[in-house]
Amino acid sequence: MEPLIGLIVIIAWAALNAVIASKRNRSGLALFALSTVPVLPLVILVSVGTGGNGESMAWAAFASPLAGFIVSLTMAGGKEAAVRRGQHGDYVRCPSCAEPVRKLATKCRYCASAL
Ligand SMILES: [Zn+2]
Repeated sequence: MEPLIGLIVIIAWAALNAVIASKRNRSGLALFALSTVPVLPLVILVSVGTGGNGESMAWAAFASPLAGFIVSLTMAGGKEAAVRRGQHGDYVRCPSCAEPVRKLATKCRYCASAL
């Protein structure tokens, strides 16, 4: 594959990972960084390790956006993160029933207790 096409694919894939993350109330920027920042160091590492094997370098280049893709699909969404940590983004954990409710809510939608 041409290096330029590979670069476009990596950036498009990183952008997709960022969109998935932000749809789940998580940081899109962090996922974009995870998908792009390690690409160059990984390629250099594999290049040194394999004596410049082009095919291995291409696979190494795609390891980072693939990792970002898996993380964006498997990490807890904003609501699950709120339950685990007590609060995350727009959500807090209800002190009565432990369900995630919006920070701005004055009454829990699950147990109807005042917040
Ligand atoms: Zn509740």
